[in-house]
Amino acid sequence: MELATPDLRGAPAWRRQGWVRTLAAELPGWAAVQPPQPLPAPHWVARNEALAAELGWAGWLAGDGALALLAGNGALAEGPWATAYSGHQFGVWAGALGDGRALLLGEADTPQGPLEVQLKGAGRTPYSRMGDGRAVLRSSIREYLCSEAMHALGIPSTRALALVGSPLPVRRETVETAAVLTRVAPSFLRFGHFEHLAHTAEDPAALSRLVQTTVERGYPELAGAAEPAAALLQAVALRTAALMAQWQAAGFCHGVMNTDNLSILGLTLDYGPFGFLDAFDPGHICNHTDQGGRYAWARQPQVAFWNLHALARALLPLIGDGDAALAAIEPYKAAYAEAMLAAWRAKLGLRDLGGLHDPDGLREGDRALADELLRLMAQDRCDYTITFRRLSGFETAPGASTQAVRDLFIDRPAFDAWAARYAARLALESSLDAERALRMNRVNPKVVLRNHLAEGAIRRAAGGDFGEVDRLLKVLARPYDEDSGTAADAGFPPDWAQHLEVSCSS
Ligand code: AMP
Ligand code: MG
Repeated sequence: MELATPDLRGAPAWRRQGWVRTLAAELPGWAAVQPPQPLPAPHWVARNEALAAELGWAGWLAGDGALALLAGNGALAEGPWATAYSGHQFGVWAGALGDGRALLLGEADTPQGPLEVQLKGAGRTPYSRMGDGRAVLRSSIREYLCSEAMHALGIPSTRALALVGSPLPVRRETVETAAVLTRVAPSFLRFGHFEHLAHTAEDPAALSRLVQTTVERGYPELAGAAEPAAALLQAVALRTAALMAQWQAAGFCHGVMNTDNLSILGLTLDYGPFGFLDAFDPGHICNHTDQGGRYAWARQPQVAFWNLHALARALLPLIGDGDAALAAIEPYKAAYAEAMLAAWRAKLGLRDLGGLHDPDGLREGDRALADELLRLMAQDRCDYTITFRRLSGFETAPGASTQAVRDLFIDRPAFDAWAARYAARLALESSLDAERALRMNRVNPKVVLRNHLAEGAIRRAAGGDFGEVDRLLKVLARPYDEDSGTAADAGFPPDWAQHLEVSCSS
Protein backbone atom coordinates (compact mmCIF):
# COMPACT_ATOMS: atom_id res chain seq x y z
CA MET A 1 0.00 0.00 0.00
CA GLU A 2 1.23 3.52 -0.76
CA LEU A 3 1.72 6.09 1.94
CA ALA A 4 -0.67 8.95 1.46
CA THR A 5 0.71 12.40 2.16
CA PRO A 6 -1.57 13.77 4.83
CA ASP A 7 -2.95 17.26 4.97
CA LEU A 8 -1.06 18.69 7.90
CA ARG A 9 -2.75 22.09 7.90
CA GLY A 10 -3.71 22.82 11.48
CA ALA A 11 -1.69 19.86 12.67
CA PRO A 12 0.40 20.07 15.80
CA ALA A 13 3.45 22.25 15.38
CA TRP A 14 6.26 19.75 15.55
CA ARG A 15 9.34 20.93 17.34
CA ARG A 16 12.60 21.11 15.52
CA GLN A 17 14.65 19.83 18.45
CA GLY A 18 13.01 16.76 19.86
CA TRP A 19 15.09 15.04 22.51
CA VAL A 20 14.72 11.63 20.92
CA ARG A 21 16.32 12.91 17.75
CA THR A 22 19.08 14.64 19.65
CA LEU A 23 19.80 11.56 21.74
CA ALA A 24 19.53 9.28 18.72
CA ALA A 25 22.27 11.30 17.07
CA GLU A 26 24.45 11.16 20.18
CA LEU A 27 23.86 7.66 21.50
CA PRO A 28 24.24 4.86 19.00
CA GLY A 29 21.57 2.19 19.32
CA TRP A 30 19.32 4.42 21.40
CA ALA A 31 16.56 4.85 18.83
CA ALA A 32 15.69 3.89 15.30
CA VAL A 33 13.83 5.81 12.64
CA GLN A 34 10.97 3.53 11.74
CA PRO A 35 8.17 4.31 9.28
CA PRO A 36 4.79 3.00 10.41
CA GLN A 37 3.36 -0.03 8.65
CA PRO A 38 0.37 1.09 6.56
CA LEU A 39 -3.00 0.31 8.11
CA PRO A 40 -5.62 -0.88 5.60
CA ALA A 41 -9.03 0.83 5.42
CA PRO A 42 -8.61 2.95 8.56
CA HIS A 43 -11.64 4.47 10.26
CA TRP A 44 -12.14 6.55 13.39
CA VAL A 45 -13.15 4.69 16.51
CA ALA A 46 -12.86 7.67 18.80
CA ARG A 47 -11.65 11.23 18.76
CA ASN A 48 -11.00 13.04 22.01
CA GLU A 49 -12.08 16.50 20.93
CA ALA A 50 -11.86 17.82 24.49
CA LEU A 51 -8.17 16.91 24.73
CA ALA A 52 -7.52 18.22 21.22
CA ALA A 53 -8.98 21.55 22.30
CA GLU A 54 -6.85 21.58 25.47
CA LEU A 55 -3.77 21.09 23.32
CA GLY A 56 -4.73 23.84 20.90
CA TRP A 57 -5.60 21.40 18.10
CA ALA A 58 -9.36 22.00 18.08
CA GLY A 59 -10.87 20.94 14.79
CA TRP A 60 -7.74 19.19 13.52
CA LEU A 61 -9.11 15.74 14.27
CA ALA A 62 -12.08 16.43 12.00
CA GLY A 63 -9.92 16.45 8.86
CA ASP A 64 -8.85 13.53 6.69
CA GLY A 65 -5.21 14.44 7.20
CA ALA A 66 -5.49 13.55 10.85
CA LEU A 67 -6.96 10.13 10.07
CA ALA A 68 -4.13 9.26 7.68
CA LEU A 69 -1.44 10.50 10.04
CA LEU A 70 -2.85 8.82 13.15
CA ALA A 71 -3.49 5.55 11.31
CA GLY A 72 0.19 5.42 10.45
CA ASN A 73 -0.55 6.08 6.78
CA GLY A 74 0.92 9.55 6.70
CA ALA A 75 4.42 10.85 6.26
CA LEU A 76 6.29 13.29 8.45
CA ALA A 77 9.34 15.25 7.42
CA GLU A 78 11.33 13.31 10.04
CA GLY A 79 11.03 10.20 12.15
CA PRO A 80 9.04 8.58 13.59
CA TRP A 81 11.23 6.88 16.13
CA ALA A 82 11.15 3.72 18.18
CA THR A 83 13.41 3.81 21.25
CA ALA A 84 15.36 1.11 23.00
CA TYR A 85 14.72 0.18 26.61
CA SER A 86 15.24 -2.84 28.81
CA GLY A 87 13.65 -3.93 32.03
CA HIS A 88 12.75 -6.34 34.77
CA GLN A 89 9.58 -8.27 34.04
CA PHE A 90 7.91 -10.04 36.97
CA GLY A 91 11.05 -9.51 39.02
CA VAL A 92 13.41 -11.05 36.48
CA TRP A 93 15.87 -9.24 34.25
CA ALA A 94 14.39 -9.44 30.75
CA GLY A 95 17.16 -7.66 28.85
CA ALA A 96 16.44 -5.60 25.77
CA LEU A 97 12.80 -4.74 25.10
CA GLY A 98 12.12 -1.36 23.52
CA ASP A 99 9.21 0.24 21.68
CA GLY A 100 8.00 -2.92 19.96
CA ARG A 101 4.83 -1.29 18.74
CA ALA A 102 5.04 2.37 19.71
CA LEU A 103 6.36 5.10 17.43
CA LEU A 104 7.14 8.60 18.52
CA LEU A 105 5.84 11.04 15.89
CA GLY A 106 7.67 13.88 17.58
CA GLU A 107 7.18 16.61 20.11
CA ALA A 108 4.45 19.15 19.72
CA ASP A 109 4.26 22.58 21.30
CA THR A 110 1.04 22.93 23.25
CA PRO A 111 -0.38 25.31 25.84
CA GLN A 112 0.67 22.59 28.33
CA GLY A 113 4.26 22.70 27.17
CA PRO A 114 6.01 20.32 24.77
CA LEU A 115 4.29 16.96 24.54
CA GLU A 116 5.42 13.74 22.90
CA VAL A 117 2.93 12.22 20.50
CA GLN A 118 3.06 8.45 20.06
CA LEU A 119 1.25 5.95 17.88
CA LYS A 120 0.74 2.59 19.59
CA GLY A 121 0.12 -0.39 17.34
CA ALA A 122 1.55 1.13 14.13
CA GLY A 123 3.58 -1.92 13.14
CA ARG A 124 6.84 -3.67 13.72
CA THR A 125 10.01 -1.93 14.86
CA PRO A 126 13.58 -3.14 15.38
CA TYR A 127 12.51 -3.87 18.99
CA SER A 128 9.42 -5.95 18.20
CA ARG A 129 11.19 -9.26 18.87
CA MET A 130 8.51 -11.96 18.27
CA GLY A 131 5.63 -9.46 18.27
CA ASP A 132 3.62 -8.25 15.32
CA GLY A 133 3.84 -4.57 16.24
CA ARG A 134 0.08 -4.30 16.40
CA ALA A 135 -2.48 -3.62 19.11
CA VAL A 136 -6.00 -5.01 19.04
CA LEU A 137 -9.13 -2.87 19.19
CA ARG A 138 -10.17 -4.45 22.52
CA SER A 139 -7.09 -3.40 24.48
CA SER A 140 -6.82 -0.08 22.66
CA ILE A 141 -10.34 0.90 23.75
CA ARG A 142 -9.37 -0.03 27.31
CA GLU A 143 -6.26 2.17 27.19
CA TYR A 144 -8.08 5.03 25.48
CA LEU A 145 -10.80 5.12 28.13
CA CYS A 146 -8.64 4.45 31.17
CA SER A 147 -5.99 7.07 30.35
CA GLU A 148 -8.70 9.69 30.31
CA ALA A 149 -10.53 8.23 33.32
CA MET A 150 -7.34 8.40 35.39
CA HIS A 151 -6.66 11.96 34.31
CA ALA A 152 -10.19 12.97 35.30
CA LEU A 153 -9.74 11.29 38.68
CA GLY A 154 -6.76 13.61 39.17
CA ILE A 155 -4.18 10.85 38.80
CA PRO A 156 -1.15 11.64 36.61
CA SER A 157 -1.39 9.66 33.38
CA THR A 158 -0.43 9.59 29.75
CA ARG A 159 -3.39 10.89 27.73
CA ALA A 160 -5.29 9.45 24.80
CA LEU A 161 -6.05 11.65 21.79
CA ALA A 162 -7.62 9.34 19.25
CA LEU A 163 -8.23 5.78 18.25
CA VAL A 164 -8.24 4.46 14.68
CA GLY A 165 -9.61 1.03 13.77
CA SER A 166 -9.08 -1.23 10.78
CA PRO A 167 -10.38 -4.56 9.50
CA LEU A 168 -6.76 -5.85 9.57
CA PRO A 169 -6.85 -9.20 11.36
CA VAL A 170 -4.53 -9.62 14.34
CA ARG A 171 -3.94 -12.96 15.99
CA ARG A 172 -4.03 -13.17 19.78
CA GLU A 173 -5.84 -16.03 21.62
CA THR A 174 -8.41 -15.55 18.87
CA VAL A 175 -8.32 -13.45 15.72
CA GLU A 176 -9.20 -9.84 16.46
CA THR A 177 -8.84 -6.59 14.54
CA ALA A 178 -6.12 -3.93 14.69
CA ALA A 179 -6.25 -0.43 16.08
CA VAL A 180 -3.80 2.41 16.45
CA LEU A 181 -3.96 4.56 19.57
CA THR A 182 -2.53 8.07 19.65
CA ARG A 183 -1.27 8.95 23.07
CA VAL A 184 0.42 12.06 24.39
CA ALA A 185 2.57 12.76 27.43
CA PRO A 186 5.31 15.16 28.51
CA SER A 187 7.50 12.11 28.01
CA PHE A 188 7.18 8.38 27.57
CA LEU A 189 10.58 7.81 29.21
CA ARG A 190 10.54 4.79 31.49
CA PHE A 191 12.72 3.34 34.25
CA GLY A 192 13.68 0.81 31.57
CA HIS A 193 15.36 3.45 29.41
CA PHE A 194 17.86 4.03 32.23
CA GLU A 195 18.35 0.32 32.80
CA HIS A 196 19.03 -0.07 29.09
CA LEU A 197 21.80 2.51 28.97
CA ALA A 198 23.31 1.19 32.21
CA HIS A 199 23.56 -2.24 30.59
CA THR A 200 24.58 -1.32 27.09
CA ALA A 201 26.46 1.98 27.03
CA GLU A 202 30.13 1.68 27.78
CA ASP A 203 30.48 5.34 28.60
CA PRO A 204 28.44 6.61 31.58
CA ALA A 205 28.25 9.91 29.73
CA ALA A 206 25.29 8.40 27.84
CA LEU A 207 23.43 7.85 31.08
CA SER A 208 24.37 11.30 32.20
CA ARG A 209 22.88 12.70 29.00
CA LEU A 210 19.62 10.88 29.70
CA VAL A 211 19.53 12.25 33.26
CA GLN A 212 20.04 15.74 31.90
CA THR A 213 17.30 15.27 29.31
CA THR A 214 14.86 13.92 31.91
CA VAL A 215 15.55 16.89 34.18
CA GLU A 216 14.90 19.26 31.28
CA ARG A 217 11.72 17.44 30.28
CA GLY A 218 10.12 16.80 33.61
CA TYR A 219 12.07 18.08 36.61
CA PRO A 220 13.06 21.69 35.83
CA GLU A 221 13.41 22.35 39.56
CA LEU A 222 16.52 20.12 39.55
CA ALA A 223 18.38 22.14 36.93
CA GLY A 224 21.86 22.91 38.21
CA ALA A 225 21.72 20.29 40.99
CA ALA A 226 25.18 19.39 42.28
CA GLU A 227 24.50 15.64 42.03
CA PRO A 228 21.95 15.44 39.20
CA ALA A 229 21.60 11.65 39.14
CA ALA A 230 21.00 11.32 42.89
CA ALA A 231 18.72 14.34 42.87
CA LEU A 232 16.70 12.90 40.00
CA LEU A 233 16.50 9.48 41.66
CA GLN A 234 15.09 11.00 44.82
CA ALA A 235 12.62 13.15 42.90
CA VAL A 236 11.42 10.11 40.94
CA ALA A 237 11.03 8.20 44.22
CA LEU A 238 8.86 10.98 45.64
CA ARG A 239 6.68 11.25 42.54
CA THR A 240 6.28 7.50 42.43
CA ALA A 241 5.25 7.49 46.11
CA ALA A 242 2.58 10.07 45.38
CA LEU A 243 1.36 8.08 42.39
CA MET A 244 1.14 4.85 44.36
CA ALA A 245 -0.96 6.52 47.06
CA GLN A 246 -3.31 7.77 44.35
CA TRP A 247 -3.58 4.33 42.74
CA GLN A 248 -4.31 2.68 46.08
CA ALA A 249 -6.89 5.28 47.06
CA ALA A 250 -8.70 4.92 43.73
CA GLY A 251 -8.64 1.12 43.94
CA PHE A 252 -6.63 1.00 40.71
CA CYS A 253 -4.55 -2.06 39.89
CA HIS A 254 -2.02 -1.59 37.09
CA GLY A 255 -1.47 -5.29 36.50
CA VAL A 256 2.02 -5.25 34.92
CA MET A 257 4.31 -3.09 37.03
CA ASN A 258 7.45 -4.19 35.23
CA THR A 259 10.24 -1.62 35.27
CA ASP A 260 9.65 -0.96 31.57
CA ASN A 261 6.11 0.11 32.39
CA LEU A 262 7.03 2.66 35.07
CA SER A 263 7.20 6.26 33.94
CA ILE A 264 10.22 8.28 34.98
CA LEU A 265 7.85 11.24 35.34
CA GLY A 266 5.51 9.45 37.75
CA LEU A 267 2.68 9.06 35.23
CA THR A 268 0.42 6.05 34.93
CA LEU A 269 1.79 4.40 31.80
CA ASP A 270 1.02 1.39 29.58
CA TYR A 271 -2.51 0.29 30.26
CA GLY A 272 -2.85 -3.43 29.76
CA PRO A 273 -4.65 -5.83 32.08
CA PHE A 274 -5.46 -3.05 34.59
CA GLY A 275 -8.57 -3.13 36.75
CA PHE A 276 -10.45 -1.23 39.43
CA LEU A 277 -11.41 -3.04 42.60
CA ASP A 278 -14.99 -4.27 42.72
CA ALA A 279 -15.68 -6.44 45.81
CA PHE A 280 -12.80 -5.45 48.06
CA ASP A 281 -9.98 -7.95 48.27
CA PRO A 282 -6.55 -6.49 49.04
CA GLY A 283 -4.96 -9.48 47.32
CA HIS A 284 -6.90 -8.81 44.12
CA ILE A 285 -4.91 -9.77 41.00
CA CYS A 286 -6.25 -8.08 37.88
CA ASN A 287 -3.84 -9.71 35.42
CA HIS A 288 -4.75 -13.28 34.55
CA THR A 289 -1.11 -13.90 33.57
CA ASP A 290 0.16 -12.89 37.04
CA GLN A 291 -0.46 -16.19 38.75
CA GLY A 292 1.79 -15.49 41.73
CA GLY A 293 0.06 -12.20 42.46
CA ARG A 294 3.26 -10.16 42.29
CA TYR A 295 1.22 -7.18 41.14
CA ALA A 296 -1.80 -7.65 43.42
CA TRP A 297 -3.43 -4.40 44.59
CA ALA A 298 -1.93 -4.46 48.09
CA ARG A 299 1.56 -5.13 46.78
CA GLN A 300 1.78 -2.22 44.34
CA PRO A 301 3.50 0.22 46.73
CA GLN A 302 6.15 -2.39 47.62
CA VAL A 303 6.68 -3.29 43.98
CA ALA A 304 7.17 0.36 43.08
CA PHE A 305 9.91 0.50 45.75
CA TRP A 306 11.46 -2.65 44.28
CA ASN A 307 11.43 -0.96 40.88
CA LEU A 308 13.09 2.11 42.37
CA HIS A 309 15.89 -0.19 43.53
CA ALA A 310 16.33 -1.29 39.91
CA LEU A 311 16.47 2.36 38.85
CA ALA A 312 18.98 3.09 41.62
CA ARG A 313 21.17 0.25 40.37
CA ALA A 314 20.99 1.64 36.85
CA LEU A 315 22.11 5.07 38.07
CA LEU A 316 24.94 3.67 40.18
CA PRO A 317 27.62 4.43 37.56
CA LEU A 318 26.72 8.11 38.00
CA ILE A 319 25.99 8.16 41.71
CA GLY A 320 29.09 6.14 42.44
CA ASP A 321 28.22 5.00 45.92
CA GLY A 322 25.59 2.35 46.72
CA ASP A 323 24.72 3.92 50.05
CA ALA A 324 24.08 7.25 48.38
CA ALA A 325 21.81 5.57 45.84
CA LEU A 326 19.86 3.80 48.59
CA ALA A 327 19.65 7.05 50.55
CA ALA A 328 18.10 8.71 47.51
CA ILE A 329 15.19 6.27 47.37
CA GLU A 330 14.74 5.85 51.13
CA PRO A 331 12.39 8.90 51.40
CA TYR A 332 9.92 6.89 49.29
CA LYS A 333 8.71 5.06 52.40
CA ALA A 334 7.86 8.10 54.48
CA ALA A 335 6.46 9.96 51.47
CA TYR A 336 4.20 7.05 50.58
CA ALA A 337 3.00 6.64 54.19
CA GLU A 338 2.31 10.37 54.42
CA ALA A 339 0.48 10.53 51.08
CA MET A 340 -1.54 7.43 51.91
CA LEU A 341 -2.60 8.80 55.30
CA ALA A 342 -3.66 12.03 53.60
CA ALA A 343 -5.59 10.02 51.01
CA TRP A 344 -7.42 7.90 53.58
CA ARG A 345 -8.24 11.00 55.60
CA ALA A 346 -9.64 12.65 52.49
CA LYS A 347 -11.68 9.56 51.61
CA LEU A 348 -13.07 9.51 55.15
CA GLY A 349 -13.65 13.26 55.15
CA LEU A 350 -11.23 13.78 58.04
CA ARG A 351 -9.19 16.90 58.42
CA ASP A 352 -5.61 16.96 59.58
CA LEU A 353 -6.18 18.81 62.84
CA GLY A 354 -2.54 19.76 63.04
CA GLY A 355 -1.45 21.21 66.37
CA LEU A 356 -4.92 21.22 67.91
CA HIS A 357 -4.61 17.68 69.22
CA ASP A 358 -1.76 15.30 69.83
CA PRO A 359 -0.73 15.01 66.14
CA ASP A 360 0.99 11.62 66.43
CA GLY A 361 -1.86 10.11 68.39
CA LEU A 362 -4.32 11.49 65.87
CA ARG A 363 -2.33 10.07 62.95
CA GLU A 364 -2.21 6.66 64.60
CA GLY A 365 -5.91 6.83 65.31
CA ASP A 366 -6.85 7.92 61.78
CA ARG A 367 -4.67 5.26 60.24
CA ALA A 368 -6.25 2.62 62.49
CA LEU A 369 -9.73 3.88 61.62
CA ALA A 370 -9.02 3.51 57.89
CA ASP A 371 -7.38 0.10 58.41
CA GLU A 372 -10.33 -1.19 60.38
CA LEU A 373 -12.78 -0.05 57.71
CA LEU A 374 -10.70 -1.78 55.03
CA ARG A 375 -10.55 -4.92 57.17
CA LEU A 376 -14.34 -5.00 57.45
CA MET A 377 -14.77 -4.26 53.76
CA ALA A 378 -12.42 -7.12 52.89
CA GLN A 379 -14.16 -9.49 55.30
CA ASP A 380 -17.58 -8.70 53.83
CA ARG A 381 -16.31 -8.20 50.26
CA CYS A 382 -17.89 -4.76 50.06
CA ASP A 383 -17.67 -2.98 46.75
CA TYR A 384 -14.72 -0.60 47.03
CA THR A 385 -16.03 2.36 45.00
CA ILE A 386 -19.64 2.14 46.19
CA THR A 387 -18.69 1.82 49.87
CA PHE A 388 -16.60 4.99 49.88
CA ARG A 389 -19.13 6.89 47.79
CA ARG A 390 -21.94 5.95 50.16
CA LEU A 391 -19.76 6.82 53.13
CA SER A 392 -19.87 10.40 51.87
CA GLY A 393 -23.50 10.42 52.94
CA PHE A 394 -22.73 9.16 56.47
CA GLU A 395 -24.66 11.34 58.92
CA THR A 396 -23.75 12.03 62.52
CA ALA A 397 -26.75 14.14 63.52
CA PRO A 398 -28.83 12.55 66.30
CA GLY A 399 -31.31 10.10 64.82
CA ALA A 400 -29.65 10.23 61.38
CA SER A 401 -29.41 7.02 59.46
CA THR A 402 -26.26 5.34 58.22
CA GLN A 403 -28.40 2.79 56.42
CA ALA A 404 -27.07 3.23 52.88
CA VAL A 405 -23.50 2.34 53.78
CA ARG A 406 -24.44 -0.06 56.61
CA ASP A 407 -26.45 -2.14 54.13
CA LEU A 408 -23.24 -3.00 52.31
CA PHE A 409 -21.86 -4.93 55.30
CA ILE A 410 -22.79 -8.42 56.39
CA ASP A 411 -21.37 -8.08 59.90
CA ARG A 412 -23.61 -5.20 60.99
CA PRO A 413 -22.49 -5.12 64.67
CA ALA A 414 -18.88 -4.79 63.51
CA PHE A 415 -19.87 -1.98 61.17
CA ASP A 416 -21.84 -0.26 63.95
CA ALA A 417 -18.82 -0.43 66.24
CA TRP A 418 -16.69 1.12 63.54
CA ALA A 419 -19.34 3.75 62.80
CA ALA A 420 -19.37 4.78 66.44
CA ARG A 421 -15.59 5.32 66.36
CA TYR A 422 -15.92 7.23 63.11
CA ALA A 423 -18.68 9.45 64.46
CA ALA A 424 -16.57 10.19 67.55
CA ARG A 425 -13.63 11.15 65.36
CA LEU A 426 -15.84 13.40 63.24
CA ALA A 427 -17.14 15.06 66.41
CA LEU A 428 -13.53 15.98 67.28
CA GLU A 429 -13.49 18.38 64.39
CA SER A 430 -17.13 19.44 64.64
CA SER A 431 -17.60 18.14 61.14
CA LEU A 432 -20.77 19.26 59.36
CA ASP A 433 -22.43 16.41 57.49
CA ALA A 434 -23.45 18.35 54.38
CA GLU A 435 -20.12 20.13 54.00
CA ARG A 436 -18.16 16.93 54.57
CA ALA A 437 -20.29 15.07 52.03
CA LEU A 438 -19.38 17.62 49.36
CA ARG A 439 -15.69 17.30 50.20
CA MET A 440 -15.80 13.50 50.20
CA ASN A 441 -17.66 13.37 46.90
CA ARG A 442 -14.73 15.19 45.35
CA VAL A 443 -12.36 12.34 46.25
CA ASN A 444 -14.63 9.27 46.28
CA PRO A 445 -15.63 8.75 42.65
CA LYS A 446 -19.11 7.73 41.64
CA VAL A 447 -17.97 6.06 38.42
CA VAL A 448 -14.71 4.27 37.62
CA LEU A 449 -13.82 2.24 34.53
CA ARG A 450 -14.80 -1.18 35.78
CA ASN A 451 -13.98 -4.05 33.47
CA HIS A 452 -17.59 -4.68 32.54
CA LEU A 453 -18.09 -1.06 31.44
CA ALA A 454 -15.08 -1.27 29.14
CA GLU A 455 -16.27 -4.67 27.97
CA GLY A 456 -19.68 -3.25 27.03
CA ALA A 457 -18.01 -0.61 24.86
CA ILE A 458 -15.69 -3.23 23.33
CA ARG A 459 -18.55 -5.58 22.41
CA ARG A 460 -20.51 -2.80 20.75
CA ALA A 461 -17.41 -1.56 18.94
CA ALA A 462 -16.80 -5.06 17.59
CA GLY A 463 -20.21 -4.69 15.91
CA GLY A 464 -19.23 -1.32 14.43
CA ASP A 465 -21.01 0.84 17.01
CA PHE A 466 -18.54 3.22 18.67
CA GLY A 467 -21.17 5.31 20.47
CA GLU A 468 -20.55 3.60 23.79
CA VAL A 469 -16.83 4.51 23.68
CA ASP A 470 -17.76 8.17 23.30
CA ARG A 471 -20.47 7.99 25.92
CA LEU A 472 -18.18 6.37 28.48
CA LEU A 473 -15.43 8.89 27.76
CA LYS A 474 -17.86 11.69 28.66
CA VAL A 475 -19.07 9.91 31.80
CA LEU A 476 -15.55 9.12 32.99
CA ALA A 477 -14.49 12.72 32.39
CA ARG A 478 -16.71 13.68 35.38
CA PRO A 479 -16.20 10.79 37.81
CA TYR A 480 -17.09 12.73 40.94
CA ASP A 481 -20.30 14.38 39.72
CA GLU A 482 -23.52 13.01 41.14
CA ASP A 483 -25.27 13.32 37.77
CA SER A 484 -22.51 11.64 35.76
CA GLY A 485 -23.51 8.41 34.11
CA THR A 486 -26.46 6.11 34.56
CA ALA A 487 -27.39 4.07 37.62
CA ALA A 488 -25.82 1.08 35.86
CA ASP A 489 -22.54 2.92 35.29
CA ALA A 490 -22.28 3.61 39.01
CA GLY A 491 -23.81 0.34 40.19
CA PHE A 492 -22.53 -3.04 41.24
CA PRO A 493 -20.87 -5.09 38.51
CA PRO A 494 -23.21 -7.63 36.92
CA ASP A 495 -22.66 -11.33 37.62
CA TRP A 496 -21.17 -11.95 34.18
CA ALA A 497 -18.37 -9.50 34.96
CA GLN A 498 -16.89 -11.97 37.46
CA HIS A 499 -15.89 -14.18 34.58
CA LEU A 500 -14.07 -11.50 32.59
CA GLU A 501 -10.37 -12.19 32.32
CA VAL A 502 -7.74 -9.75 31.19
CA SER A 503 -4.18 -10.79 30.52
CA CYS A 504 -0.94 -9.45 29.08
CA SER A 505 -2.09 -10.48 25.60
CA SER A 506 -3.13 -7.27 23.90
P1 AMP B 1 3.96 -4.78 27.68
O1 AMP B 1 3.85 -6.02 28.52
O2 AMP B 1 2.76 -4.49 26.86
O3 AMP B 1 4.42 -3.61 28.46
O4 AMP B 1 5.11 -5.09 26.60
C1 AMP B 1 6.39 -5.52 26.93
C2 AMP B 1 7.27 -5.40 25.73
O5 AMP B 1 6.75 -6.16 24.65
C3 AMP B 1 7.46 -4.00 25.19
O6 AMP B 1 8.77 -3.91 24.72
C4 AMP B 1 6.47 -3.94 24.06
O7 AMP B 1 6.82 -3.00 23.09
C5 AMP B 1 6.53 -5.34 23.52
N1 AMP B 1 5.29 -5.75 22.85
C6 AMP B 1 4.10 -6.03 23.42
N2 AMP B 1 3.21 -6.38 22.50
C7 AMP B 1 3.84 -6.34 21.30
C8 AMP B 1 3.46 -6.60 19.95
N3 AMP B 1 2.23 -7.00 19.63
N4 AMP B 1 4.40 -6.45 18.99
C9 AMP B 1 5.64 -6.06 19.29
N5 AMP B 1 6.06 -5.81 20.52
C10 AMP B 1 5.18 -5.93 21.53
MG1 MG C 1 4.92 -1.75 28.20
